[in-house]
Amino acid sequence: MGLLRPEAPAPVDLPAAAPRPAPPAPAPVPMRAPAPAPRPSPSPVVYTPPTEGPGCPSTESVAAAADLGALEAAIQGCLKCPLGASRIRFVFGEGDAKARLMFVGEGPGRDEDLQGRPFVGKAGELLDKMIGAIGLERRQVYIANVVKCRPPDNRTPAPEEAKACLGYLRRQIELIRPTVIVTLGATPLRELVGVSEGVTKVRGQWKQLTVADRTIPVMPTFHPAYVLRQYTQDVRKAVWEDLKAAKAWIDKDAAS
Ligand code: SF4
Repeated sequence: MGLLRPEAPAPVDLPAAAPRPAPPAPAPVPMRAPAPAPRPSPSPVVYTPPTEGPGCPSTESVAAAADLGALEAAIQGCLKCPLGASRIRFVFGEGDAKARLMFVGEGPGRDEDLQGRPFVGKAGELLDKMIGAIGLERRQVYIANVVKCRPPDNRTPAPEEAKACLGYLRRQIELIRPTVIVTLGATPLRELVGVSEGVTKVRGQWKQLTVADRTIPVMPTFHPAYVLRQYTQDVRKAVWEDLKAAKAWIDKDAAS
């Protein structure tokens, strides 16, 4: 038997190889937005006082005020420095319009801001006692401050705030014409009298203030709030000596 050669298998039709998909196009690289040009930093906010209206009493209206009532009316809407915007009450000052003894403090505190009166609260009570100790009553003296509006958190008024307000105090002094001024604490001594040394160093030493046509003797002493904080025999004795000296000057002036 002959061997049959097996037939070669029919070629199988293979489907044409599918074309290989093209590799995905690389995702576009996200473009970074160009960094914005740096903005110029804002310039510091500078308080700009109003230039007209009741918020800005003119120098002329202050000088023209013929008495304390007219002066208060002219300046009570003042917004010349930033303290005006945060005040509750304007604190002009109070007392005898012809007082021989005038006290000048720093500025209103919380109680003064609420009541619109200078030296009320604990420091005011002590000042009343100090006045009583030299044989006077509060209504017989005049009490004012360097600034008429409360500095926030009872801080010391900034020099520019004191400068903005000082013309009002000087006009008050011109109208009252006191025989003696007692400054309470460092701020009135520095801002009104121009003495920058500490109160501890210069208290009890006469200074001078010239207002309009008069030179007025000034006695520096401690602020009642300081006395309350340092309620020692030495501090109280020092204030007592200062007030006695002021009273003696007034009595001598009255007798001459
Ligand atoms: S503190 Fe004096 S200057 Fe300042 S807003 Fe008050 S009144 Fe005007």
